[in-house]
Amino acid sequence: MNLLYQSTRDANEVVTASQAILKGLASNGGLFVPKELPKLDISLEVMATMDYQKVAFEVMKLFFTDFSEDELKACINAAYDDKFDTKEIAPIKKADGVYYLELFHGSTIAFKDMALSILPHLLTTAAKKNNIKDEIVILTATSGDTGKAALAGFADVPGTKIIVFYPKDGVSPIQEKQMVTQKGANTSVIGIRGNFDDAQSGVKAMFNNKELAKKMSDNGYCFSSANSINIGRLVPQVVYYVYSYCRLLHNQEIKKGEEINVVVPTGNFGNILAAYYAKALGVPIKKLICASNENKVLYDFFTTGKYDKNREFILTNSPSMDILISSNLERLIYTIAGQNAEINSKLMKSLADNGCYEITPEMKNGLKDFIGGYATETETAKAIKRVFDDADYVIDTHTGVAASVYYDYKAASRDTTKTLIVSTASPFKFGRSVMDALQKGNDTMDDFEIADELSKVSKVPVPKAVDEIRTAPVLHKTVCEKDQMQATVEKILDLK
Ligand SMILES: *Cc1c(COP(=O)(O)O)cnc(C)c1O
Repeated sequence: MNLLYQSTRDANEVVTASQAILKGLASNGGLFVPKELPKLDISLEVMATMDYQKVAFEVMKLFFTDFSEDELKACINAAYDDKFDTKEIAPIKKADGVYYLELFHGSTIAFKDMALSILPHLLTTAAKKNNIKDEIVILTATSGDTGKAALAGFADVPGTKIIVFYPKDGVSPIQEKQMVTQKGANTSVIGIRGNFDDAQSGVKAMFNNKELAKKMSDNGYCFSSANSINIGRLVPQVVYYVYSYCRLLHNQEIKKGEEINVVVPTGNFGNILAAYYAKALGVPIKKLICASNENKVLYDFFTTGKYDKNREFILTNSPSMDILISSNLERLIYTIAGQNAEINSKLMKSLADNGCYEITPEMKNGLKDFIGGYATETETAKAIKRVFDDADYVIDTHTGVAASVYYDYKAASRDTTKTLIVSTASPFKFGRSVMDALQKGNDTMDDFEIADELSKVSKVPVPKAVDEIRTAPVLHKTVCEKDQMQATVEKILDLK
């Protein structure tokens, strides 16, 4: 069967999987969604004996139907290799009666690696399939984490170059060091004198510049983005929900057909949407618990049916969830509107014009598997400490939000369903906040001393991603004014 993708904002815009990956975004700001959600064609019991790569193939072949078996396997094998520090790729740890799915064993010790390690390969394969000969240039503006994960994913991938802009004084010292020490002859990292919005506006302007596009094409290049709404990032995230269910079956933690709940620390709504797709595939998931930090737009949405971004933006210790517009939610809205592009477009227009929209009671029925929850900064710190005290296991701040929401949900609902909490970052990535949750007196330590202390406390070695930047040489030193971003790109690519 050939699965096609259509835009959430225009029923007439229909493309193949490889085209959807290449385009990233549909016209008028729409997102590509599968015309219908596929179902697994082999049983979970059979898959329970498979390794991560095999499960990935079984899942991705259902979504990327215009890729050949060999193409898909080559992408999977290039992505999920020894860049990950464990053969399991996404191991499960049992602690305090729940299962933590650790998605942080890739090169940047956070869950974006799960998708960004395969996206470059999907993208270059998709380009070949569609007879695009130009070299792909990935342009990204970053406030820290995505930039590094994209750099790590694209480094030395043939047929690609990646250029990352970050606000020179707007990222943490560790984040900056991670980026400027990036290896790979096809990588460029540039600090700009401006903030993250300046970086993002500059990148958007280049994407929309027709003259520049022409010049790029004349020189054998085309732009693409590693944006989180690309279907090539979403589908690889479905894999680990199938895989983790299979691991629980294999380890006899659950019985055949037994339902589990999942708790997902959420920002842009990509990760939890992947869980929803996994449920549609046939994984017995009961409740999808969406955990927010103090930026609780999604909690309010799930409780009231009204999405309202008109509120104060709060900076928290789980910064990757500090988001007021959860882009991937549009895919769910479209689905619960009965795959109706017109209804969805109206709601998204209201979001753009007024910052809010409200769904109908019928649409709200489509959300009955979701539960929204949120945790304050204090509650998150308490959850981190509780898991450590009860189970001798250290979780990061994003996972801490999820753990807190889970404890609240369990106490209120008395639901004893076995539960998988998605662990999206290594505690070492947010070491200071984690240590502050565990003990007093960390103020005099620098970031590396914090990592060493955390290693002692958690009895987990300092991950390579942190250890190697202690001494790694700085390879990227370019800094530019915010109005010089295009000139800098033209110079890097030596455009004539
Ligand atoms: C990106 C990110 C999230 C949020 O994931 P979404 O798919 O945007 O909901 C949560 N935790 C960490 C550590 C992240 O990097």
